[in-house]
Amino acid sequence: MTELASAPQLSERDHDAILIAEDDPMFRRILQHWLESWGYSVSIAEDGRQAWEILRGENPPSMMILDWVMPGMDGLELCRRTRSSRCGPYQYILLVTARDRTPDVVRGLDAGADDYLTKPFDKSELHARLRVGTRMLALQRDLLSAQEKLRFQATHDALTGMWNRGAVLDMLRTEIERTLRTRSSLGVLMLDIDHFKVINDTHGHLAGDAVLKEVAQRIAGATRTYDVLGRYGGEEFLILLPTCDFAQTQSGAERIRAAIAAQPFAAAETLIPLTVSLGATVAPICGESEMEILSIADAALYEAKSAGRNRAAIRTSHSDSPST
Ligand code: GH3
Ligand code: MG
Ligand code: MG
Ligand code: MG
Repeated sequence: MTELASAPQLSERDHDAILIAEDDPMFRRILQHWLESWGYSVSIAEDGRQAWEILRGENPPSMMILDWVMPGMDGLELCRRTRSSRCGPYQYILLVTARDRTPDVVRGLDAGADDYLTKPFDKSELHARLRVGTRMLALQRDLLSAQEKLRFQATHDALTGMWNRGAVLDMLRTEIERTLRTRSSLGVLMLDIDHFKVINDTHGHLAGDAVLKEVAQRIAGATRTYDVLGRYGGEEFLILLPTCDFAQTQSGAERIRAAIAAQPFAAAETLIPLTVSLGATVAPICGESEMEILSIADAALYEAKSAGRNRAAIRTSHSDSPST
């Protein structure tokens, strides 16, 4: 059974995790105490190498307070490495040091620090600067999740949650390439709801929309997780069955047809009989270009309709005799 997608939600914001890299035990303890009292979840590194291990690990902290002068690897080098590794989301870096000359501040910021504090510093100033970091990261999270939402909307059909036409055609191209590379085959099904116009005209457009959703659910229930399901047009669906040969494509189409015809759709006040017709073909026997493949599937669909609907027809070329 295929799980139909739903739009990504804005992520919950947990309190940021923060790394303290500081070789002075006394200063480390004070920092840890302050940060924990402000609600941060704190990890500790006693030198630069330990800090780098933590940063390279799974789920690295999103914020860090780095001491400039540490044995092994200094804070400046940690800044440079963090910025040049460029994997995962942006991390906020506050560089802490006794160096207070302007050229040092410039070097620190140029190495990739977002902010700079000179020891000794005031507790409330540290807290305020960390709040700036938290705001930056929150902004980044919102941008990333808005981007994810847009990407979802650009590739999915809002009504059914299936891939939209553009996305499913992209996948058809990818799957055709895969069959050629791996010498396997691909079942391609074009599905069209029977007499859908009558459903709309009799029960209204909203009931028609509910039928489209229901058909999508029934298709999903009758396919494998790695099958590709797309809404191709109004009441037409394009279904890709990777690795399926002629016989498997034929039985896959029949399974979907039967799942949809099995029972009428229970709309608000009435039962609406539901059937679909399918045109099937198998790539690459039927051709290697998506236009060729779609045109043969379409011809098979036309035959299924002409032969009386509620059936699947399969053909591998425009000239062979279809089997319905
Ligand atoms: P056939 O059995 O030959 O396929 O007949 P049909 O009535 O299903 O085919 P036709 O192409 O004449 O009608 C398709 C209808 O689908 C027409 C259009 O208004 C409707 N339609 C397309 N998209 C949507 C949609 O998103 N929602 C609803 N409710 N109707 C839609
Ligand atoms: Mg130090
Ligand atoms: Mg149609
Ligand atoms: Mg139709």
